[in-house]
Amino acid sequence: MAESKINLLIVDDEEQFLASISKSLQVRDFNVIAVTRGEKAIEAARKNPIDVALVDLKMPGINGEETLRALKAEHKWMEVVILTGHGTIDSAVECTKSGAYSYLQKPCSLDELMECLKEAYKKKVMNRKKIEDHKMAELLKISVSGSPRDIMRRLKEIDKG
Ligand SMILES: [Mg+2]
Repeated sequence: MAESKINLLIVDDEEQFLASISKSLQVRDFNVIAVTRGEKAIEAARKNPIDVALVDLKMPGINGEETLRALKAEHKWMEVVILTGHGTIDSAVECTKSGAYSYLQKPCSLDELMECLKEAYKKKVMNRKKIEDHKMAELLKISVSGSPRDIMRRLKEIDKG
């Protein structure tokens, strides 16, 4: 995977759509892993460092909302964008309450899609940085005040957090 690109996981059961969107994004700023089932998306995310997932809402097997929940539960930094077809906007809105960054209605333009995916990636980086800064401040605080045992205990807490 090229390091300067965003690692993107796409899951959609429409194979033709999946192939064309993957190809379009791959030649731009994304490393793309494309799968056709929610189960495979969850598996792929365990094996690859994913920044952003683009998840189709309606799929056989594990649907988009369940896939979203599973991905967020296992990878707290990953941002998820939901893709929705006609007539499922309500469910897509529900998904944002379950932790999706945003949703897009199909068909959407490539520009719109890329813009949304890049914003989602930006959010991922910012969130992570916020936590890292917080951890650094905590570390500085405890390193001047605590006993070695206290310091170790706090470090473990911070690391889990
Ligand atoms: Mg579908």
